[in-house]
Parts: sequence; structure tokens; C-alpha cells
Amino acid sequence: MTVPPRESAARSTAAGRIPWRVARLAEIRDETPSARTLVLEVPQWPGHLAGQRVDLRLTAEDGYTARRSYSLAAPTDGSRVVLTVQRVADGEVSPYLTQVFAVGDPVEIRGPVGGWFVWRPQDRDPVLLVAGGSGIVPLMAMVRARAVAASRAPFRLAYSVRTPGDAYYTEELRHRARADPGFDLTRVYTRATPPGWPSPPHRLGLAELSAVAWPAAFAPTCYVCGPNGFVESVADTLVALGHDPGRLRTERFGPSGR
Ligand SMILES: Cc1cc2nc3c(=O)[nH]c(=O)nc-3n(C[C@H](O)[C@H](O)[C@H](O)COP(=O)(O)OP(=O)(O)OC[C@H]3O[C@@H](n4cnc5c(N)ncnc54)[C@H](O)[C@@H]3O)c2cc1C
Repeated sequence: MTVPPRESAARSTAAGRIPWRVARLAEIRDETPSARTLVLEVPQWPGHLAGQRVDLRLTAEDGYTARRSYSLAAPTDGSRVVLTVQRVADGEVSPYLTQVFAVGDPVEIRGPVGGWFVWRPQDRDPVLLVAGGSGIVPLMAMVRARAVAASRAPFRLAYSVRTPGDAYYTEELRHRARADPGFDLTRVYTRATPPGWPSPPHRLGLAELSAVAWPAAFAPTCYVCGPNGFVESVADTLVALGHDPGRLRTERFGPSGR
């Protein structure tokens, strides 16, 4: 896959509302052996809210294009846009983005997109974040946006991954949870735990969610993001625990991992 090399190649969407821009990769950070944070420089980026996403478009030499959505991993910061991409082994786009895409390379980007799965710094309500795998990405943008805004809104994050090596942003989350009494972090491992971990691997179920979530009477806004099956199971459990479906916001990234 290549992309049009010139800014003039940027095109508009069919609706003509959000233009395609040509971004360049400015920085790479490996989060895990199969996930990479990409920092893009996007000329005339209009800014965004935590929780929003972008579309990336790749174009092959024969004109074939592939487009995928990626959540923004950090709050708005001038022309810098931060994404974290998980490699899907047999995927078309994510292997390119995580293994081939190099600093200085161009990519077409369109956004920001989405207005429901967002957190605004002026929101004061308690927030429950529940992430499965790469579903942490837009929730991390909310955690970071809260810190940048010095918000006092209480935040709780439950982050489920298969093994410790699959977790993103590990040091940053540890630091934020230690340094900020308004931010609680619960980790759940479904396949292997760190040595000495107090519980065996398990899925985030009713008992654990009732322990880590705010009580329903506290009326938190709940953001749940991850693979389809994870999101459905967590959303059903939160509703069973009495949470108002109207305060539940979900984002699905794709198939449940096997
Ligand atoms: C709103 C939204 C936000 C997203 N944000 C992110 C993000 O921040 N980071 C990120 O890494 N991905 C994110 N995704 C997923 C992303 O858009 C792609 O689906 C993913 O990168 C796979 O694309 P691909 O071209 O490599 O795989 P494809 O060629 O599309 O698919 C190859 C195979 O993998 C399966 N597959 C596709 N997507 C997934 C998936 N997500 N998990 C498991 N299997 C899958 C397909 O069923 C197929 O069998 C988001 C998706 C949506 C809808």
C-alpha cells in the first residue's frame, strides 16, 4: 500500500463535509510486540474531543483503496494526532501500519468523527471506563484529557487484557493511578497473570464489575470499548447491575478475539 504523496491529492468525502488531509508519521512508540503508537502531524487539524476517531485511507499503486477507523489516543494537541494500532495477523491495513509505515511516510486522514462516544472536560459526573484489549485507546484519551484539564471528575478504569504483555500504556497508567486519588485502575487478565497476582485469570463478570464499578445509584457515565463480544457482555452486565442504559456509551472495534 502507498498513499498519494502530495497535499493536492487530498480529496473530500462524498458528503464533502470532512476533508481528507495528508498526514505524515512523526513518531513511533511500540506498546507491545503487536501494537504500535503512531504520532501523526496533520496540517490544519481542527482539534477533537477525547473518544472521537479518525479514518485512515491507504491507496495502492493500481488505485485500490482501503479505509479503516482508528480511535484518537490522546486529547487535542495542535497538529499532532496520536493513534495506537493493534496488528491483526491476517489483516489488510493494520500489518502495514504496525510494520511498514515509517517516520516521514504520508497517509490520508479524515476526522475527527463521532459525537456520542466522547468525554468533555466540563463534564463533572463520575466516569466508569471499561476496556477490552485495544479498546483502551479512546478511553486513554479520556484519562489523558482529564489530566490535561485538571478535571476533578472521578474516573474508574477497568482494563481487561489476555496477558500482562498485551497491556498498553502500562507505566503511564500505573503512574496516573498512584499519583491521582481521583483515578482508580483495576486490571483483569483473562489468560495469564503477572507473578503473585491475587486472582487466577478470568473474565470480567458480574461479581467483579459490581465490585469495581461505581454503584448504579452514583449514576456514572459508562464508556465501554473493545471487541464486539466483550462490549455486549459488559453492557448487559452493567444494565443487570442497575445502570441506566441511557448513560451507557459503547464503541465496538471488531470481532471478538479468539
Ligand atoms: C470506531 C472504531 C475504532 C477503532 N479503533 C481502533 C484502534 O484505536 N486501534 C485498533 O487497533 N483498531 C481499531 N479499530 C479496528 C480497525 O478499524 C480495524 O478493523 C483493524 O485495524 C483491522 O483492520 P485490518 O485491515 O488489519 O483487518 P481486516 O483486513 O479488516 O480484517 C482481517 C481479519 O481480521 C478480523 N478483524 C478485523 N478487525 C478486527 C479487530 N478489531 N479485532 C479482531 N479481529 C479483527 C476480520 O474479521 C478478518 O477476519 C477500530 C474500529 C472501529 C469501528
